[in-house]
Amino acid sequence: MKILLSILLIHVGLLIHAQESLNLHGKVKILLEENLIHVEYELGNFKHLPDDTLRLVLNNIFDIEILRYNGQEIPITKDKRSCLDCYIYSIPIHPEKPVKQIYIKGSGRYTQTAQRADYKGLISMKNDILRASEQSKWYPIYWKDTTSNPIFAKTTYTYDIELDCPKCQNVLVGNNEPINQQGRFTSEEPTDDILLIAGQYNYQVSNAAYFINLSDTLKTELDKDIQSMIQFYTELSGIKINESIIYAHLPSDNPRWLGFVTFPFIVDVSQNPNTKNVGFISHELAHFYFGKIYESKSNLYWFYLESFAEYYSYKYLLHHGYDQVIKKEFSRLKKIRWAQYFSWIHPRLQKYSFVPLKKVSSREDIHVVHRYSIGAFQLLGIEHEIGSRNMKKLIPILFQNLSEGEHGFLTLRKSMLQIGIEKKKILEIERKYFNSLRLKHYTFIQIE
Ligand SMILES: [Zn+2]
Repeated sequence: MKILLSILLIHVGLLIHAQESLNLHGKVKILLEENLIHVEYELGNFKHLPDDTLRLVLNNIFDIEILRYNGQEIPITKDKRSCLDCYIYSIPIHPEKPVKQIYIKGSGRYTQTAQRADYKGLISMKNDILRASEQSKWYPIYWKDTTSNPIFAKTTYTYDIELDCPKCQNVLVGNNEPINQQGRFTSEEPTDDILLIAGQYNYQVSNAAYFINLSDTLKTELDKDIQSMIQFYTELSGIKINESIIYAHLPSDNPRWLGFVTFPFIVDVSQNPNTKNVGFISHELAHFYFGKIYESKSNLYWFYLESFAEYYSYKYLLHHGYDQVIKKEFSRLKKIRWAQYFSWIHPRLQKYSFVPLKKVSSREDIHVVHRYSIGAFQLLGIEHEIGSRNMKKLIPILFQNLSEGEHGFLTLRKSMLQIGIEKKKILEIERKYFNSLRLKHYTFIQIE
């Protein structure tokens, strides 16, 4: 058992340190009375650059006034391409002058988000609190792989950011403690998730977490849940969550949206947060593993990110007597099954169509219902067939193999073989859970 655990930790170490990190120096000034953000960024420590062009992505609220290449001002070239709320800035590379430093200065006006659909990639202003996640590109993201969607591009940075908001009660950047109005936030540890929260909010500290914008009573109850989840996941994975969780309640106008994670932040965007939402919290906490420690760039990206996080969440819920939540999910699956029969009739039902994982060619072939509902049950299916000890062995080996960039389904097959599952068993698993959605195979979850 101990040997297995140390192999596991070595793999995790390899995955984290394999990332290369850039350096980000920033000065950000927020003027709440004018809905204005001034930004100044200096990027350094570039390695492995492309031969011709360096591409940076920034949120489209920003109007960039100055762009400098190794201290020299250069013309600004931007385009939208597949950017939703962003622009891509193309910077030609001079072969005789390798990039040492890029300087960007500009400003942007945010709008109150009340009238529009909110999502993680938005720079959002609501109830006097400004929220910007890494996906919003409030700081420049280096778009390296131009075949990928820039919305999902991430850059690993060590950072040093000064944030000034004279009318704010508190400001916060990244995994730090909030500071009154103005402060400097740094991280020596490379990270690709830098969240900004500035405005009128309070915060409290407990053993396992920081709580932003929550009442005392709710804080105490959520703290209990979070501690119990951390303990469960540590035992399940053999990997300890060392960082303090930061739980922020930043209500959104998007009523169907529960929230998101930018580790170690869990951002709850519901109108009225409550402790009954264990499904949401346990899913978001599981992203510490699936998203931070284990990441896949394969075509089954959404399966390896969301379905695995949901699978961990189901494991927690089943173990802690929340069978009702799973029952509800399973009845949803029944409805999905029916919608699938008719998915060829109407384009609106196409989101329910089932694309077997082995036939997935691009990320978006895995629809939302597959990512969150079907995928987690498929993983419970594998566990039912191979046992929980083998499942524990499978996860680190699977994610290690995924870095080799094969088709995600072939890797799943190969990894099962590697941990000693017989070929016959693997074919049975594929037939029962992966070739089509047959609910009769899920009776082991004991849901009538
Ligand atoms: Zn998720």
